[in-house]
Amino acid sequence: MQYLPQLRLAAYQAASKAYAPYSNVCLGCAVWAENKIFAGANVENASYGATICAERAAIWQAINQGARSLQHLYLFSPGGWPPCGMCRQVMAEFAGPELKITLAHPANVKSLNPLLEGTGTPAEIVLAGQKIALLEQNLTLGQLFPCSFNPTHLQK
Ligand SMILES: [Zn+2]
Repeated sequence: MQYLPQLRLAAYQAASKAYAPYSNVCLGCAVWAENKIFAGANVENASYGATICAERAAIWQAINQGARSLQHLYLFSPGGWPPCGMCRQVMAEFAGPELKITLAHPANVKSLNPLLEGTGTPAEIVLAGQKIALLEQNLTLGQLFPCSFNPTHLQK
């Protein structure tokens, strides 16, 4: 996973581009797909329903640039939050249960994900000469979304 430092940095930096005037919560996601990195952030909308999560924003970038197979999704959030159900479904469209998923959050804040509390692995980003400590949890799509509905169910 030589790409991991770049993937981590791309996700972290993507969070700074989030449009989140309603929740004030900025998330960044980067996906490794077909040897390239694609990143995105959450984009909220006054209708709420038209809001898009960082994960789907990153995946749409990949798909719109021709990639079709995701290998690793890295999500940076304030609390190490897992992807929502809609994002898991989109992941299942473009990846199998082996898809690597890393949930990261700043090391100096408590994880808001009770199932993962205390299970993080330390990681670090160096950005403009500043070291930023993170905690990461590594999972797979199969763990997050077992028995998912996916394109194989529609094959004849
Ligand atoms: Zn989502």
